[in-house]
Amino acid sequence: MNRKNQYHPETNAIRTRADQTPHMEHSSPMFLTSSFTFDSAEDMRAAFADETDANIYSRFSNPTVDEFAARLAALEGAETGFATSSGMSAIFASFMAFLKAGDHLVSSSSIFGSTHTVITKFLPKWGIEHTYFDINNPESLEAAIKPNTKMVFLETPSNPGLDVIDIAYVAGICKKKNVILNVDNCFATPALQRPILLGADIVTHSATKWIDGQGRVLGGAVVGKKDLVKEVHTFCRSTGPAMSPFNAWVLSKSLETLHIRMARHSETALSLAKALQNNDKLEWVKYPFLETHKQYDIAKKQMVAGGGILCFEIKGGLEKGRRFLDAIDMCSLTANLGDSRTIVSHPSSTTHAKLSEEERQKVGITPGLIRISCGLEHLSDIQQDIEQALQKA
Ligand SMILES: *Cc1c(COP(=O)(O)O)cnc(C)c1O
Repeated sequence: MNRKNQYHPETNAIRTRADQTPHMEHSSPMFLTSSFTFDSAEDMRAAFADETDANIYSRFSNPTVDEFAARLAALEGAETGFATSSGMSAIFASFMAFLKAGDHLVSSSSIFGSTHTVITKFLPKWGIEHTYFDINNPESLEAAIKPNTKMVFLETPSNPGLDVIDIAYVAGICKKKNVILNVDNCFATPALQRPILLGADIVTHSATKWIDGQGRVLGGAVVGKKDLVKEVHTFCRSTGPAMSPFNAWVLSKSLETLHIRMARHSETALSLAKALQNNDKLEWVKYPFLETHKQYDIAKKQMVAGGGILCFEIKGGLEKGRRFLDAIDMCSLTANLGDSRTIVSHPSSTTHAKLSEEERQKVGITPGLIRISCGLEHLSDIQQDIEQALQKA
């Protein structure tokens, strides 16, 4: 693997690649192969004994998948990385690699829905307890850490509420308490925020979102220090959440444009958030780089830009939220985010409809909350569609 870590992150995203084949191809090829061959019994023995880093079988490693993981690790400023089939398999593997029966996990409370399900429905089956702390009350974190706490898990900015927490502050507490800090960096991506450089031990990703950026493939990754990523690899090698080489090839290409895409997504989201701030159909607008955001100073300190997601509360609650979705003309109504096409969603009537009103309140989902994932279309077309739908709602 040819790593050029001495360059800027955007250069590393483009120049980190698997070794060239004898054909000297310029663009990285895709290694669609389940297994790899050996010249001799001795070579094969040495590979299985971990004495060489030769590829054996694509559930363990594959050059195309490793290229994607190495690029992402370089972008995050991490030593190494391991790519998985989806964001959830990366998060699940990061729990399984470090937690055992009797251990305790502390997590911020506003997290991705499936992560919440893993923490509350599955981890307890294996005797792993958890405590949620409120990201808007960072002082409550230290009290939540117990003698058997092994990991702190964070999502910042959070989904869909866009709350932000000071990663360096949390990392300081985790160091003091000797606890692994695991940050889901899906919303910001390494183009805007690099938790490892702020003291996180591992970073987990859903590559399905902004990293792909065009809503094509699923993928995930864990990056961090070599000894920690090795534990994740050991778990995945035997349990099988391998990333497909095809998906890895697509996602590696995506990383080449990540910085310019995230800059544009963020620019559009900030402009749209500012324009909507004065809209009389709205209760409030939230975006990490709006001065009215509660953690604006922290966002400014740890992020290069505010990201592609903004949210707002429609006056009139649930019914108005549904009517807003119906009145949308160009933007897409879909469950994904982080696409070149702008996506609008109304969590309380869709993704979070099964929760009780009280549970929704707890995770920051108000009845009229609308989440916008800004795409790469022209700002005026996005803005016009949202404003006309607000008028009609
Ligand atoms: C989508 C998402 C995930 C899960 O990723 P998948 O690739 O869908 O498995 C995890 N965390 C966040 C913040 C997400 O938005």
